[in-house]
Amino acid sequence: MTAFLNADLHCHSVVSDGTMTPEELAIRAQANGVELWALTDHDEVGGQHRAAAAARAAGMAYLTGTEISVTFCNETVHIVGLGFDADNAEITQGLYDTRGGRGKRAQEMSEQLAQVGIRGAYEGALKFVGNPELISRTHFARFLVEQGYCKDTSEVFRKYLTEGKPGYVPHRWASLKDAIRWINDAGGMAVIAHPGRYKFTANEEYALFTEFKAHGGRAVEVVTGSHTPAEYVEYADKALEFGLAASRGSDFHSPDESHCDLGKLPVLPGQLTPVWELLADRIQHVAPAQ
Ligand code: AMP
Ligand code: MN
Ligand code: MN
Ligand code: MN
Repeated sequence: MTAFLNADLHCHSVVSDGTMTPEELAIRAQANGVELWALTDHDEVGGQHRAAAAARAAGMAYLTGTEISVTFCNETVHIVGLGFDADNAEITQGLYDTRGGRGKRAQEMSEQLAQVGIRGAYEGALKFVGNPELISRTHFARFLVEQGYCKDTSEVFRKYLTEGKPGYVPHRWASLKDAIRWINDAGGMAVIAHPGRYKFTANEEYALFTEFKAHGGRAVEVVTGSHTPAEYVEYADKALEFGLAASRGSDFHSPDESHCDLGKLPVLPGQLTPVWELLADRIQHVAPAQ
């Protein structure tokens, strides 16, 4: 498998904060030319067996996935796990504990929004959630758009749900070390998600990459829907500098909200080691026709 494979190893379903089912995503990915797919719901593996079966039905190879919320240097960092055993007890317990604080955080977000005149946000956001344990800022954003407070979810994040704005509640997620250990011990590979999105100083970013490696992390997203073309180059250089493999994923959530569709990103820069080469024995291939 080469760097030119159409792999999409980052997206979300209704199990977390996407709007499509795992089955709908598999069909869309296949129609868009994806050859190797992973569903990476936030802090949850509940969609993995459905996604693997849907990939098989659509004729695509599949890697298990999740996107773990981590706190590092007082900032939320996302660590994608790929190719692990989705039934492993340690990672399923770790993810359960990680999502545990979401309900209380959501209540606090709702109280803050009420103070600026937006009432009933908790109940409103809940209408958009499959699993209440996974209530996220995205679900609040959809409620505020539905109620006409903003024209789209990006505007909601600009005005309400980010640091310094009403509706932002700081939260302590998993540690970087634990997230990497859960993934590694379950036979998978840890990937730094969309590093260009974090508001780190150069020193903090260096610390993230250094500690990520020291704890057993092996890869970084280089080509993602969250990066600009200049960031593809910047993080390709970082991958080489730190000896990390490279991943590629759209971070697709919804046809109405995501600017990058499944399978529609540029290929990885050729000099990098694709994460799927290191995960060759973890890929679930489609059985050849009898
Ligand atoms: P949470 O895990 O509850 O903090 O929510 C994080 C999710 O919010 C991310 O996974 C994205 O789906 C979404 N998100 C974060 N920032 C933005 C933004 N600026 N615009 C749109 N969606 C965003
Ligand atoms: Mn999301
Ligand atoms: Mn993310
Ligand atoms: Mn994501």
